[in-house]
Amino acid sequence: MKRALSLAAALALVLSLTACGAPKKAETSLFAMDTYMTLVAYGDGADEALTESARAINELEQLLSRTREDSDVWRINHGGGKVSSETVQLLARALAFSDETGGAFDITVAPLVDLWAINSDHPHVPSQAEIDALLPLVGSEHVSFGARESAAPGSYDVAYVDEGCAIDLGGIAKGYASDAVKEIFAAHGVKSGTVSLGGNVYVCGMRPDGKPWNVAVQDPQGDGYACILSLSDTFVVTSGGYQRFFTAEDGTVYQHIIDPATGAPARSDLLSVTVICPDGTRADAYSTALYVMGEEAAVGFWRLQQDDPFEAVLITADGRLVCTPGLTDHFTKQEGASYEIQFLSR
Ligand code: AMP
Ligand code: MG
Repeated sequence: MKRALSLAAALALVLSLTACGAPKKAETSLFAMDTYMTLVAYGDGADEALTESARAINELEQLLSRTREDSDVWRINHGGGKVSSETVQLLARALAFSDETGGAFDITVAPLVDLWAINSDHPHVPSQAEIDALLPLVGSEHVSFGARESAAPGSYDVAYVDEGCAIDLGGIAKGYASDAVKEIFAAHGVKSGTVSLGGNVYVCGMRPDGKPWNVAVQDPQGDGYACILSLSDTFVVTSGGYQRFFTAEDGTVYQHIIDPATGAPARSDLLSVTVICPDGTRADAYSTALYVMGEEAAVGFWRLQQDDPFEAVLITADGRLVCTPGLTDHFTKQEGASYEIQFLSR
């Protein structure tokens, strides 16, 4: 079985800054959460903000990694036990997103993520019987919390999953980390900067020249961009089958986002979903969920969220780039990209 793994970043920041008169710039990069991350901050507190952000990301990986044996998630997946209140709060949000998205986003899909092993060096196309055996282990009802009497009030909790079940925060952890970076930037007075954690982008304030940041949405069918979004103070998160996949010997392509309803890689009519909103955790959960839903259900879901709206760019397998109307004044078509541009009506 031949494996092809695309680690290309889903989004890229197109920066063009004037050098003269610009505030102090600090930049750092790191590899964490299985992805390459770059952080840029401007202003007097920039160095400290980046040092603290990198430390926070590494600490979050320590809590949320599935593979580190002393992580909170590892503990939950191996009998349960004491975990930080931060982990409990993120789990609670993840379960709420599962509820909200009708189970399209579901962290308990972990046993099926492992069965297919698409993110690993040894992907596997399982039999239907293997899938059927694991499907009953998927569902929020398999996750439980409990208070620990000996723990200091509010500092620790207990979380566990039912026998055979497991959780995978790969669909939400980077978004959560980007929210943490936003808070750290604010605490250090950083009013301008960009953060790219794999496909998860945070644009802080405006560029130093006072203009919005340009965030390029990757063309899922090529190396270039499909469009450019001019944005400030928001999160831009892309999910797509093209980001991680493998090609079986018979030529079938299996991508890494599992449809919790079928236990197989989602057969989405979307190539990528980009969600834009001021909450990085929400944007991350939604981008994964909308990819699973497919175009029609994703648009229906977007329409239902008008009390707390978000924006999105859906790139369809039949060659359309579908945008929510809030992006009208922020959107530039990329020269050379062949997608038919459509704007949704409210
Ligand atoms: P993302 O790149 O944010 O769309 O997240 C995809 C990753 O989340 C996968 O590589 C899996 O680790 C995990 N995952 C796969 N399918 C789902 C799903 N339906 N809901 C939540 N997480 C998932
Ligand atoms: Mg996600």
